[in-house]
Formats: sequence, C-alpha cells, structure tokens
Amino acid sequence: MTKVAVLGAGINGLTCAVKIKEKYPNVNVVIISSEFTPNTTGDGSGGFWYPYHCGNTPQELLCKWGGETYKYLLRLWQEGGYDVSLLPMYELYREPTELRVNLWASQVYGYNILDKKQLDYLSGLYTVKYVAGRTFTTFIVYPPTILAHLYQRFQAANGQTLQHKIVSLKDKILEDFDVVVNCLGLGARDVVPDDKVHPIRGQISRVLAPWVTNALIDEDSGNYILPNAHNCILGGTHQRNDFNRGIVDKDTDFVLNSCKQLMPGLKNATLISHWAGLRPGRECVRLEPELRDGKLYIHNYGHGGSGLTLFWGCATDVLEIFDKHMIQGQKQNSKL
Ligand SMILES: Cc1cc2nc3c(=O)[nH]c(=O)nc-3n(C[C@H](O)[C@H](O)[C@H](O)COP(=O)(O)OP(=O)(O)OC[C@H]3O[C@@H](n4cnc5c(N)ncnc54)[C@H](O)[C@@H]3O)c2cc1C
Repeated sequence: MTKVAVLGAGINGLTCAVKIKEKYPNVNVVIISSEFTPNTTGDGSGGFWYPYHCGNTPQELLCKWGGETYKYLLRLWQEGGYDVSLLPMYELYREPTELRVNLWASQVYGYNILDKKQLDYLSGLYTVKYVAGRTFTTFIVYPPTILAHLYQRFQAANGQTLQHKIVSLKDKILEDFDVVVNCLGLGARDVVPDDKVHPIRGQISRVLAPWVTNALIDEDSGNYILPNAHNCILGGTHQRNDFNRGIVDKDTDFVLNSCKQLMPGLKNATLISHWAGLRPGRECVRLEPELRDGKLYIHNYGHGGSGLTLFWGCATDVLEIFDKHMIQGQKQNSKL
C-alpha cells in the first residue's frame, strides 16, 4: 500500500491531505505536524481572498490557483453553513498610483478601477483623502470554521494524524513513506532547508463591529478592516524577518488608532483579542516535485499573505503531481 506523509496541518497541508485521501481511499495518508487547528497561522489570519504579499509569484499562477480557490469558496458560500461571507472590497491609495488591471481580475466579480466620483465618495466615508483604488467582490472566511471542516473531511475519509516536530526531511519518521508532501509554511525554512523562506510578521486585533459590511485595505498606511461572519479584523503589520509571535504594544496602538482614524465608528467596537502570526514569506510560492534519494517530495509552501487565497488551487496541482506518480507506479507494476 502506498504511504503518503503530509507535513503540516495548516490550510495547505489539510487541503492536500483531503484531496489525496478522498481520491485514493486505499492510500495511507498521515498528516504529521507540530500544531493542528486552531493553532495554525491560517486560524488567526484575516481569511480574506486577495493575492497579497506573495512575492513575485507569476500572475498566471495567482490567476489559476486564486481562481480555483475563489470558485471553491463560492460553492461553500452557496451551500451555506461554513461561515463564508461575500462582500465588496476596496483597495485604496492616498498617493497617486497608476493601477493596472490584475490578470486575476478575470476570476472575480465586480472588478473595477475606481473613478474620481467613487474615490471622493469613499474619501467622505473613511475620513482620508484617497486618490486611487480598485474594488471587487470577494470572500472572507472565518478561518477556524474552514480548517475544522477540512479536518473533519480528512477524518471522515479515514486519514490519520500524528503530532510530531520534524527536524529535517531525513527525519527517521519519514523513512517508511513513499511520498512526502511538504506544506510546512515557515517551518520549511529549517526543515528543507530553504533560506528563501522568511517570516512576514502580522499583528491584528479582533473587534465586534457588525455594522462594518465591506472590506477595506489602505495600501499606503498598511491598515485593513476585514469583517467576517463572527467579528471584524483590524490590521495590521507586515514586518519582514521578524520572528516575534508575541503582542507588541506599539503595534496594538498603531492598529487600533489608525483603523479608528479611518473609520471613526470603530471607537464604539468591543475589543475581543489581539493576535500576531508569521506569514510564510518567499520570493515565490514553491510548488514542485523533487526526487531525493529515490523518494518523491512534493513541495507546497511559501504562500506569504495569500495562503487562504490560493490553497484550493495549489492542492489541485499537488494532486496532479501525485496522480502522475501513481500512474507511473501502475505502469512499472504491469511490466513486472
Ligand atoms: C496577520 C495575518 C493575516 C493574514 N491574513 C490573510 C488573509 O486575509 N488572507 C490570506 O489568504 N492569507 C492571510 N494570511 C496568510 C496565511 O495565514 C498564510 O499564508 C497561511 O496560513 C499559510 O498556510 P500554510 O498551511 O502554508 O502554513 P501554516 O498555516 O503556517 O501551517 C504550517 C503547518 O506546519 C506545521 N509545522 C511547521 N514547522 C513544522 C515542523 N518543523 N514539524 C512539524 N510541523 C511543522 C505547523 O504546526 C502548521 O501546522 C495572514 C497571515 C497573518 C500572519
């Protein structure tokens, strides 16, 4: 029986594990991870569909992976019950900026570069003078719900899990596995090792503000306001090469004060919590097969600020690589 180890139980590891196990029920799939939901990076994230801080990942790939994920979220939204919200988002600039239409614009609804009249209206709403921007309709998930859903799907398909910290891809625990799917996020930095992987620290606050019904990103200040099915996320910081997962008071002040400045009504929002996480930054998402000592490794890491935007499409590509491996195995067996 083929044995597959999926390293990492974040949004990427879980999705790959679900796709492989559901397509190949007779393959033994084990997720090996130091942390599981609700303690992964994705659990604390904004859950916002938006290609963001993912280095120079080619637009064609963002279009393919992001487009597939957008369609998957649309299906969940249509089914209901998964805490997926659909809402307009505004990406706004204080400084004059020439905006080009992104290639992925074809994958989303309602994509428009904003004209002066719309910008003046939004400047009136948000008390900041915006001079450029774009809008589209997008999805925001409540991350713990989607992660729990994928985890349950994996368990229902008889997938196995093992809590363990991997030190290297030569870890003894991996010896028995035919294929290793590497979705370690930032962990890939030490385990692969891959020094292109680095943290992009993000600190956010969660508040109750049910009157906020659209998403906003202020690209010049770095602030964002993301309402989900249960609360509203106020962000945020983007500190490259900062490994600190603790809450920093200066960042809390920045997040709360500048979001309240943008949207004064937030001064009446009830504060729920603060959180800091490390985005797995990389110059480009790494999604490719690698043969090491005769064993197939499928790498899928380095999604930066876009793990919740690309996960479904990336897992489809991982599954395609795995499919080829299985077909090759069948051909070899039939020759024997
Ligand atoms: C503040 C903030 C806001 C964000 N907002 C958004 C957003 O709105 N939209 C969006 O698309 N993205 C957002 N992101 C980014 C998103 O969270 C990540 O891209 C995504 O979580 C990456 O998923 P992953 O599965 O690759 O990695 P992770 O979620 O980090 O999972 C990695 C897994 O590997 C395990 N692991 C790591 N090292 C080891 C090891 N040595 N041994 C065993 N297991 C190991 C971990 O325990 C974990 O289970 C945000 C991130 C932050 C910090």
